[in-house]
Amino acid sequence: MTYRKDLPWLSLVALLVLGGSCSPPVEESASFAGGVAFDIPDWSGRWYKGNTHAHTTNSDGDSSPEYVARWYKENGYDFLVLSDHNVLTDPEALSHIADDEFLLIPGEEVTSSFESAAVHVNGLNIPHVIEPRRSETLVATIQANVDAIREVEGVPHINHPNFLWSIGAQELAQVEDDRLLEIWNGHPTVHNDGGSGSPSVEEIWDVLLTGGKTVFGIAVDDAHHFQGEFNADRANPGRGWISVRANTLEADELMASLEAGYFYASTGVELTEIAVRPRSIEIHIAQDRDFGYETTFIGASGEMLLRTEDNPAVFHLNEDVGYVRARVQDSRSDLAWVQPVFVMRR
Ligand SMILES: [Zn+2]
Ligand SMILES: [Zn+2]
Repeated sequence: MTYRKDLPWLSLVALLVLGGSCSPPVEESASFAGGVAFDIPDWSGRWYKGNTHAHTTNSDGDSSPEYVARWYKENGYDFLVLSDHNVLTDPEALSHIADDEFLLIPGEEVTSSFESAAVHVNGLNIPHVIEPRRSETLVATIQANVDAIREVEGVPHINHPNFLWSIGAQELAQVEDDRLLEIWNGHPTVHNDGGSGSPSVEEIWDVLLTGGKTVFGIAVDDAHHFQGEFNADRANPGRGWISVRANTLEADELMASLEAGYFYASTGVELTEIAVRPRSIEIHIAQDRDFGYETTFIGASGEMLLRTEDNPAVFHLNEDVGYVRARVQDSRSDLAWVQPVFVMRR
């Protein structure tokens, strides 16, 4: 995708007063040379790879919960959320698959709708099944399902906004108490890249961030098809995931890191380290064979701040650009997204 500064939809939405705005706290120890510094995240621990969106025969998947859990375990994942439509596929029944190196976190794709729009919100780390809610507007319906997940202390993520062209930036900007948005989903009909004049989900993400909403982007499989041929027209596993920074492989810790943005999302590019200093971000990319890497640093309004083929990729902060996030693309077009780091002003 390309980044343009003057997209008409962007100007429109930028005029809105957005909900859920968050001013990062001023950190006294940060260097304020030039009047700006990053709000530095606490990225302790190690990386844990996981997928938070997968279906089984308990809803519309083609394989049993046992088969799906084993697929992820055998393919190098550290954790998995089985997220059937309006069904809680209980990890307790799969406890013989889980161990110290593979965690199953209870979840559900809370599946509702408003008129022709699909309202699908994943609930992660929930104690029991959640009934989908409906309300009188699209925004109220999204909010009601986010609230239902929060009421049981689960973590919501809003799924595939471009599926059936259901949810736009204007609606998402009005939702409160949510921190996670699927910016990439492996299902073949979810229109990650937009089209016909509609923005990509990544562009929607920049509109939300520019408007002051603190929201982090996740990549997921939304896997349904584990049997038969794997091809681009089927919802196969292994396409989109997150690597979360945590000290131990425990659900509560992973959830806290997710909501704080201590993770990156990927469709294939692996990162080894993301170092945020008061006035720089340094991204270390795991070199795969002879692949090349291009890293783009992006600021408010989706503005491209820097593009580099260096590894590590380094960005230096010299002015207030609102936030800085990064997108790494390799020479076979796989991607990784580094979460936004917010700029503080003196
Ligand atoms: Zn869905
Ligand atoms: Zn799904």
